[in-house]
Amino acid sequence: MTTTIGTRTGAELLSVHGLTKSYAGADGELPVLAGIDVTIHEGEIVALLGKSGSGKSTLLRCLAGLIPPSSGTVSYRGDPLKGANPGTAMVFQTFALLPWLTVQQNVEVGLEARGIGAARRRQAALKAIDLIGLDGFESAYPKELSGGMRQRVGFARALVVEPDVLLMDEPFSALDVLTAENLRGELLELWDSGEFPTKAIVVVTHNIEEAVLMADRVIVLGSRPYGTIRASYDITLDRPRDRDSRQFTALINEIYRTMTGRGEQAAPLPPHGVETARPRPTLADSPLPAASVDGLAGLAEILQRHDGHLDIAALADELGLEVDDLLPLVDALELLGFATLDGGHVALSDEGLAFSAADVQDSKKIFAAAALEVPLVRLITTSLEKSVDGGLRYGFFRDLLAHHYTSEQVTAQLEVATDWGRYAELYSYDANHEEYMLDPSRATSLDHDDEPGMSTA
Ligand code: ADP
Ligand code: MG
Repeated sequence: MTTTIGTRTGAELLSVHGLTKSYAGADGELPVLAGIDVTIHEGEIVALLGKSGSGKSTLLRCLAGLIPPSSGTVSYRGDPLKGANPGTAMVFQTFALLPWLTVQQNVEVGLEARGIGAARRRQAALKAIDLIGLDGFESAYPKELSGGMRQRVGFARALVVEPDVLLMDEPFSALDVLTAENLRGELLELWDSGEFPTKAIVVVTHNIEEAVLMADRVIVLGSRPYGTIRASYDITLDRPRDRDSRQFTALINEIYRTMTGRGEQAAPLPPHGVETARPRPTLADSPLPAASVDGLAGLAEILQRHDGHLDIAALADELGLEVDDLLPLVDALELLGFATLDGGHVALSDEGLAFSAADVQDSKKIFAAAALEVPLVRLITTSLEKSVDGGLRYGFFRDLLAHHYTSEQVTAQLEVATDWGRYAELYSYDANHEEYMLDPSRATSLDHDDEPGMSTA
């Protein structure tokens, strides 16, 4: 039933030790990845799986030597990298082709950079083009090609340098489902045939099924509060893999549970200066998920129609979405206390049911009460209540959040907090003056304010 051929039997190609990567926040470095140890061996396909924001692309760029780790090392065949990794080539989600060059010229670009002469470039490019099923398209320009054909160019451009390790960042996720399926299948056939000109593949994906279809090893990255390796699975199913088999489905379910489950794993030791989780949700450990009120209310309604509970996998299937699209909405319901998550199973709570069943005015009230328990919404509301005129500038909250989030994350956090607060009628936001204003209905509560001072930690 299972084979282990090719899995972690070969030589070490890439190794990562104690990698931490931080990006600059206004208030110092903010970790995006911490405590990462990974080794990639000859003969294996490794999938890096995680929700968006968990640091997958960052880790891949570190493997490619495109960005340096903040601490720890990345080595290629035992030698620590000092710049771009000479043993890797990258395939990007967005293809990243040069529109003014033909297919052939796009494929040759990587070779030119390595100082290879015209005749050899031409020969190698034609070989890669042929391998990946692009013959006939040599003189076409990217804009003449379908998405699938463009990504073939992306593959050819990476394979032409015959890297030891092919790195792929969500290479199929910009393609329609059938094209993605076809291209993924062809790639795996090539790999299995032994004609693939690389010795290992690392593929980043947020799609569990894709990870289990392709990989010998699936590494799950978690993102609370920064990216760490949550679990690693050896996948020893025979190839080509049968999605309908019991073992396949069982693995998918198990990995779903790991990706969505929380609380079971003790948090790993945080890097220096990072807060550990505390019983009461804080700004740092309870970021607002990227979910609009419309989106989370829609999900609550769907759950209500299914007697209040559903499997995330089944739900994603029913809606034609990927689990990654749903998770922020599920996270939002959970954060608001409107739903509980047990393994891959979401169930509405009594409040969630009340929220979903209520008319607009009542649902706003229920939402407001729940949102006030969410650290950032609470921080904004109580700060406004304490301000002299009920108004505070956007920059004030940006600065507070900069202690815990990167600049990009701060923008995203405030965008969601604005949406939630407006809907809850807790506060409004004036984009022209970049100012939050307490909702007039809250102003009366100023007199009997028993709210303890908000900690931003
Ligand atoms: P993934 O690929 O899993 O979606 P990324 O590696 O792209 O995750 O990002 C991880 C986190 O790091 C995100 O929160 C993102 O906002 C942040 N991030 C990524 N690149 C940068 C950057 N250049 N500067 C600041 N923050 C960044
Ligand atoms: Mg990414």
